Amino acid sequence: MKGNFPLEKFEEIQTPFYFYNTELLQDTINAAKNTADKYNYHIHYAVKANANPRILSIIRRNGVGVDCVSGGEIQAALDAGFPADKIVFAGVGKADWEINLGLDASIFCFNAESIPELKIINDLAKAKNKTASVALRINPDIDAHTHDHITTGLKTNKFGINLNQLDKTLDILENLPALKLIGLHFHIGSQLTDLAPFRVLCSCVADIQRQLAKRGVVVENINFGGGLGINYNRPNSDPIPDFQNYFEIFHKYFPALPHQQIHFEPGRSIVGQCGTLISKVLYVKEGYSDKFVILDAGFTELIRPAFYKAYHKIENLSSKESPETYDVVGPICESSDYFATQINLNKTRRGDYIAIRSAGAYGEIMAMQYNCRQLPKAYFSDILADKNETIRH
Ligand SMILES: *Cc1c(COP(=O)(O)O)cnc(C)c1O
Repeated sequence: MKGNFPLEKFEEIQTPFYFYNTELLQDTINAAKNTADKYNYHIHYAVKANANPRILSIIRRNGVGVDCVSGGEIQAALDAGFPADKIVFAGVGKADWEINLGLDASIFCFNAESIPELKIINDLAKAKNKTASVALRINPDIDAHTHDHITTGLKTNKFGINLNQLDKTLDILENLPALKLIGLHFHIGSQLTDLAPFRVLCSCVADIQRQLAKRGVVVENINFGGGLGINYNRPNSDPIPDFQNYFEIFHKYFPALPHQQIHFEPGRSIVGQCGTLISKVLYVKEGYSDKFVILDAGFTELIRPAFYKAYHKIENLSSKESPETYDVVGPICESSDYFATQINLNKTRRGDYIAIRSAGAYGEIMAMQYNCRQLPKAYFSDILADKNETIRH
């Protein structure tokens, strides 16, 4: 099944749609979990990468936790059966109702991103006669060397508490009795393929830890966030990220204190490669210089190319004819609605199935209804392979 697509089943389904390879998803979770277990590391899947209920339920069965960045995500995680004590909640702008939802569910930890937020969590917890466990999300000012829009740990980014406010924050925490400081949280960016910034992060966190120790503060939990990249160029030959290499960096360069728990929040690296956007060719047309393949999918289904200039490998699943050069675009009335320019595809005709690969993360979840389009549906390899299952439309 891996890398293969059940075209005969696709005939019964209206395009465009998301197709998830559940076997690959499970293999990827196993790879992440087995390596993390070796070092006694905890995984909290970042729900924002993909909150499809079935994807969440497959992940939940593996006993990992979740990282949420909104009340909606906390609700989605609870609905999928994640235990509240495995939910962490980050985000620069937590609304009162979202904090209250977390308090009512008694989630494991609020990753707080500012002094005013700490005060509000304290007030809301006090009003409920509860104690909220918080971790401080710290902006370590580390360049993740990734796309500008997915760098989060630089001085100029809105995320986290500045290092030079750390002392002040600890002073203020002493007067917020409904809060219990249980950890430090970091997340420096997404789609990191060069792992060197994680090494920098390790030494930075170790420094902060020493600084805290001088004040007599020792935290139980260190959360290094997510960010491990996937291979968008080679989804077939490199479908599972190198979790071993990734976790080894932290094991090598971050000496955890005795009894300290180490957490990670992988999103893209768990779900990125298992998802494909399946589309059909509506028209092939000659432009002034380029030949356009016009798909029935657009940025309404997958916005990453338009949003981040992201690359996705594109394959014609129907044609075996020799390749030609095309621009692959969608039907939306915006020039940014493209998937690729000047790529080689096997000679393409109306009705061919086109696979846009590595779309499992930040794909379906970012879909929108612009142009009054319908949100894409999702289909799963194990269900399509099961002869007794009828396809639900
Ligand atoms: C987005 C995000 C993640 C997941 O990032 P990936 O690059 O998908 O692994 C983890 N933690 C936080 C706080 C995030 O905002």
